[in-house]
Amino acid sequence: MNMMLHRVFFFISFYLYVTYADHIHEWDYGEFGPDVWYEKYPTCGGRLQSPINILTACTTYKSFTPFIFESGYNEQHSFTLKNNGHTIVGTLNSESNLSGLKLAGGDLPGTLELVNFHLHWGENHKSGSEHEVNGMKYAGEIHFVHINPSTNQTAVLSIFMQSAFFQNETTNNTVRFLDEDTRKEWKRYFDIAQTLKIEDNTTIIYLNLSLLMGKNLRDFWRYEGSLTTPPCTEGIIWTIFKEPIIFVESEFKSFRQNIYFEDYRSPQPLYARKIYRNFFNDTSSSIPDYSCCSRKDPNKPSDILKSSFEKLYYSTYLIYILLLYFFSITF
Ligand SMILES: [Zn+2]
Repeated sequence: MNMMLHRVFFFISFYLYVTYADHIHEWDYGEFGPDVWYEKYPTCGGRLQSPINILTACTTYKSFTPFIFESGYNEQHSFTLKNNGHTIVGTLNSESNLSGLKLAGGDLPGTLELVNFHLHWGENHKSGSEHEVNGMKYAGEIHFVHINPSTNQTAVLSIFMQSAFFQNETTNNTVRFLDEDTRKEWKRYFDIAQTLKIEDNTTIIYLNLSLLMGKNLRDFWRYEGSLTTPPCTEGIIWTIFKEPIIFVESEFKSFRQNIYFEDYRSPQPLYARKIYRNFFNDTSSSIPDYSCCSRKDPNKPSDILKSSFEKLYYSTYLIYILLLYFFSITF
């Protein structure tokens, strides 16, 4: 009997340990936030990390094949939304007549399938996106994560979320920038997702991905980066669409308040990477030049010469001041 009690006690303790341990996060956006991720996940300190700040004047034009979205994107499908302790993740539920949501083109290697979609957001409408454009943040960023099942190549399609404020929806000019169908689909998403306040909460929702993605999937930037959460795996192909989806701030805000305060990583150094753009004319930049375009090499002869001149100038000035002081006390 004693043995039996021991076993019961052991199994209860083990169950409690496993349940509890599952909820201890190895990383988060606070105490164990992005600045210290690399201590446990060394790849997070790598040289191909995401997100990045896209300095538009420093991007290179390249022609890309058009994206081909399978018809499944334009149909309602059943998704499970889950609060995974960091964000709300939407995954496709398997349906008998569905082999997955497939994506090709865009110079992506082969055919890729949707793995999940999730959002990143911030403490207010001026922060939340992970990528930045010329140092500007959006209110949030949507990631549609895809994978090529035969090569395991991951590619993320990313769309910025912009918040719009307006009191009277029928009279304000902002309304004309809102795509009503896209807005309605996201409103349905927010209404349900914001109820997933506790970790591991799940719910089922029918969504049309094409509506969620909006109609502005023409112009984009492309670069090689990483997952923006630990383990920060590199070798990810990023597509950042230029045009944001416009949201109504009040709807977005309720989501921000009810789920998590913020969940975004700030831009990482670009190092030697190139950013490509698929649109010929870059009209988004009113700033004609950036220092990044001709990154200064600190060992360049001109810099060394300049630095030597500066040293000579300051040392001469110092000697002059000392001489003045010396003569003033002598005479
Ligand atoms: Zn993400």
